[in-house]
Amino acid sequence: MRSSSFAGELPSHSLNEAPSRISVTFDSCSHMLSHLDEFKLKGSRLIRKDGTNFQEMLLEMTGQKTVPNVFINKTHVGGCDKTLQVSDGSLQQLLSGDGEAYDYDLIVIGGGSGGLACSKEAASLGKKVMVLDYVVPTPKGTTWGLGGTCVNVGCIPKKLMHQTALLGTAMQDARKFGWEFEETVKHNWDTMKTAVNNYIGSLNWGYRVALRDKNVTYVNAYAEFLDQHKIKATNKRGKETFYTAAKFVLATGERPRYLGVPGDKEYCITSDDLFSLPYCPGKTLVIGASYVALECGGFLAGLGLDVTVMVRSILLRGFDQDMANRAGEHMEEHGVKFLRKYVPVEELEAGTPGRLKVTAKSTETDEVIEGEYNTVLIAVGRDACTDKIGLDKAGVKVNPKNGKIPVNDEEQTSVPHIYAIGDILEGKWELTPVAIQAGRLLARRLYAGSSVKCDYINVPTTVFTPLEYGSCGLSEEKATELYGNDNVEVFHSLFWPLEFTVPGRDNNRCYAKLICNKLDNDRVIGFHYLGPNAGEVTQGFGAAMKCGVTKEQLDGTIGIHPTCAEVFTTLDVTKSSGGDITQAGC
Ligand code: FAD
Ligand code: NAP
Repeated sequence: MRSSSFAGELPSHSLNEAPSRISVTFDSCSHMLSHLDEFKLKGSRLIRKDGTNFQEMLLEMTGQKTVPNVFINKTHVGGCDKTLQVSDGSLQQLLSGDGEAYDYDLIVIGGGSGGLACSKEAASLGKKVMVLDYVVPTPKGTTWGLGGTCVNVGCIPKKLMHQTALLGTAMQDARKFGWEFEETVKHNWDTMKTAVNNYIGSLNWGYRVALRDKNVTYVNAYAEFLDQHKIKATNKRGKETFYTAAKFVLATGERPRYLGVPGDKEYCITSDDLFSLPYCPGKTLVIGASYVALECGGFLAGLGLDVTVMVRSILLRGFDQDMANRAGEHMEEHGVKFLRKYVPVEELEAGTPGRLKVTAKSTETDEVIEGEYNTVLIAVGRDACTDKIGLDKAGVKVNPKNGKIPVNDEEQTSVPHIYAIGDILEGKWELTPVAIQAGRLLARRLYAGSSVKCDYINVPTTVFTPLEYGSCGLSEEKATELYGNDNVEVFHSLFWPLEFTVPGRDNNRCYAKLICNKLDNDRVIGFHYLGPNAGEVTQGFGAAMKCGVTKEQLDGTIGIHPTCAEVFTTLDVTKSSGGDITQAGC
């Protein structure tokens, strides 16, 4: 079998260090062996004559135990395919850096969920690490501290504001349980906003301390590549500093997309502005119909605001549509209005909040409608922050259609020593725990000899709509498409959480669905739950699915009573049977 291989200086015994100088040749394995008389072949394994298992050493160093295993100037390039993929330019750059000493072993660009996890892990493995984080202010001037989207303008403020809304519902329920309090209950936006932002401030501080404790150098500056190993960092005063590193991790995340219609940047806000808005948004139009739109629209309505969601096509694209529509119907029943139209925006009156006229055009007919709102929240998706960081100078390939970065299953970009994680990845989940897991595992592969890769399959997630929707695995549509209608069995049930019964709300609105693969022992390939505490419920079933749980095993699991999650241990009505799924009681 012909393959490429390296010859020359072999890796030192320091397992965390790449070989210092290696010349690359393309030859057969047997040819290499003839030059390396301290090695012998034992079966298909390469063994040092003194007994050291060279393949194990390679695995520990590089995550790859097969030869060829190519290094150029301390940079692990990879095997034959990877080496052949290295373009002329980048090969030259790698070769010309012979003997160069870098400022850092690793520079991480972006101090969000993925970047912080990766930099801390790499530093705790003894590497010299720098992380740069810089927030470009929104068109409204909003900015925030260290930690990225999740902490500052994503998961954390969103969940706390969702909780604020749930407390409003709980207060209504409380009267039915005997609590007596003044009739007038009001919500104070400023109190909530201040409390949430104080908490975020404590997290920002905690991240700085954690970086310092781990000896990660943190620089609050915007990073841009100048070449494959060098970046320029520009701080908020415009001061430029230059740094080099042996390896880089890109973790720059995404920012909200605007509509591109007149007035959008001047008059509208996005989720980047909402959570620290200095005034209550008032009557709000939310444009978009996915995670961000439905979650924000949901909690704003829960605070008692007049909310309209403008849907271009469907709710929660990519999710099980049966579930998405049920979540939407519940929102509609609780006062959220839905419009299925399109939008330009004009300002009527400035103010905090002001008065905005929105002219919307139907996507199906020529109908044009107008509405007036205090706030227009644009939530039409997010763009990867990859266009202004000099990736062309570094030679990193980007999908020109969406700005996302394609990587292999080790998060390696088209440039071997530059990796990418988190929201900027092409075709991967945009979720905090995914970015964290990918970052941590990457550091361990780079510096601790691990070969464990991030598993992007069966990632559990929850949409924090007023009635929360948790899912893991395939939607019914996708399962049917992949396995065929006849090979998929869907078990489902409506249910009524005990805590909803006394206040008499939302009877038979909650819904549980399992999708099983008949061809594989009724293995669960889709889990869907619409009900309270969906994140808590879905997490455990996500673990079960990672272990390959089957319907029979769930049937054999004893439920915890009285809970919502127990419904998954007693599902016996198949969707195909058309059987009654309403629940009369426990
Ligand atoms: P980010 O966390 O976005 O971090 C990137 C950082 O890099 C930012 O601080 C950015 O300013 C900085 N940066 C960018 N360019 C440069 C540069 N050139 N130089 C220096 N710094 C730079 N996920 C969940 O799992 N659960 C949720 O409930 C959830 N809710 C969400 C709610 C909202 C409203 C939004 C918008 C997102 C939500 N997400 C949620 C998604 C989650 O926030 C992201 O998946 C996660 O933050 C991605 O992490 P990241 O490291 O890829 O990027
Ligand atoms: P998204 O999932 O990309 O959805 C964009 C939405 O905007 C879609 O409903 C889309 O409609 C609509 N849209 C796009 N262009 C439009 C236009 N010109 N006019 C009107 N509507 C338009 O974006 P997102 O909601 O911002 O979420 C981004 C990512 O953040 C998600 O993928 C998710 O992973 C993450 N996130 C996670 C959570 C969570 O875990 N709970 C919460 C929030 C965000 P079409 O369907 O018609 O295209």
